[in-house]
Amino acid sequence: MKNYHSNQTPNGYRIAPSPTGYVHLGTVGMALVNSYLARQNGGRFYFRIEDTDSKRFVADAVEKMNQTFDYLGIKFAETYVQSERAEIYQKYAHDLVRQGKAYYCFCTEDDLSQMRETQIKNNEPTGYYGKYAKCRHLSADEVQKRLAAGEPYVIRANFGYQDWGERITFVDAARGEIALLPQVNDPIILKTNGLPPYNFAHVIDDTLMGTALVVRGEEWLISTAEHMQLCDLLGFPRLQYLHMPTINIEDNGKKRKLSKRKDPQALVMNLVDAGYPRDAIIEYLLTIYNSDFELWRTANPLAPLTAYEFKINKIGTNNPLFDLPKFNDIAKNVWARYDHETMIKYFNAWNWQKLPQITPTIKTRIEAMLGVERGGERPRKDLIKFEDLPELYSYLWDEIQVDGQNLDGALLKQYASIYDANDDKDTWWQKIKDMAPDKPSLRNLAAQIRLAVTGKTNTPDLWSICRILGNDLVKARLNRW
Ligand code: GLU
Repeated sequence: MKNYHSNQTPNGYRIAPSPTGYVHLGTVGMALVNSYLARQNGGRFYFRIEDTDSKRFVADAVEKMNQTFDYLGIKFAETYVQSERAEIYQKYAHDLVRQGKAYYCFCTEDDLSQMRETQIKNNEPTGYYGKYAKCRHLSADEVQKRLAAGEPYVIRANFGYQDWGERITFVDAARGEIALLPQVNDPIILKTNGLPPYNFAHVIDDTLMGTALVVRGEEWLISTAEHMQLCDLLGFPRLQYLHMPTINIEDNGKKRKLSKRKDPQALVMNLVDAGYPRDAIIEYLLTIYNSDFELWRTANPLAPLTAYEFKINKIGTNNPLFDLPKFNDIAKNVWARYDHETMIKYFNAWNWQKLPQITPTIKTRIEAMLGVERGGERPRKDLIKFEDLPELYSYLWDEIQVDGQNLDGALLKQYASIYDANDDKDTWWQKIKDMAPDKPSLRNLAAQIRLAVTGKTNTPDLWSICRILGNDLVKARLNRW
């Protein structure tokens, strides 16, 4: 058989999502792992859209996925779309037919379900194998006749003609040696519509594209035997694999897969829309996929993520649990690392228009607020995501809720008469001190001012907040009681 695949040493890494339009957190995890491995090994990193299952095709999905990856700063050297490569798969499938390693199958849905019923009745395994693989033995004449009559067909790999041995073994780069039962059915390699199912397309593409290591979700682990059988059938060297653990979530005390349908945090775009920093998404994934990442981060708090060396032997095989408090904590730390200018850039890039009752004035206040207690040895760590701003910094909005039961109106009015937003911090504090005869009354006054101006008992630096709000608003809030 003619060798269509290249003889170059494979140096590629890839992600190969189906175009559902939404990028699952696990897919970003795989993209990250692959981009690290490609960078560390001087390889290419490419994107392959697996759209041969037309039922799942979503027209603008590719664009949406690209937007997500762009936002995360994940870049691909090449992009492939499987549906545009139909001829390549067809050529390989027909070559296999010519060699007797694959055959036309004309069985209809009805034939297959009848076969299934018989197998179930006889207590036999279901599937297309052995004596049930009817079309495996059709004569060349008969095949020609049926093709000429325009009968719909699929092409099946002829696995039945050789002995695959008891088990197929391979070394998974993260899990070590794995032994799997071979596929005994003759799988479809080309569907009636002329497109291959995942199994065949995967083996051909990853061989032709030169994938050094197929990094994919562990749900594919069990199919790896079939993929190796297909490589053998095609005369390709077997591919190398690494199966990544699935991210789980705890739901009512039970663990289950993080689901696109049930868990909003499974879709990366939802995290971005909520206003999480992109680096929190990346750091969180590195934390769950590489057990020494957190140590590295603690030792190198400000280092760029590209300075981290990803280690295959630190990928756990246990299913990591999506841990929201942990993720939020990482988000706080990520925001705290940025300078004011960067914060403003992120805020403006985010869809801030969706904040309730947002006006240009309030937006300006938020931007100023993002600079309060930033930088220095112990930067403030209170922001998780921009969506929380109306609650976190509620006092930046014009109307605030204050529990004023214990507020002393006379005292606050007296303070309002001397407050000046132009005062520097020392003058501001001195004025408050001058109003209080002793420590307890100073503490009380400061607390009253804070509560009246912000509606909260605990806030970032009050002097800064008052300056951001300006004389009129601060005085109006003080004079209300
Ligand atoms: N299209 C497959 C999926 O969506 C890709 C598996 C792979 O990476 O090979 O899961």
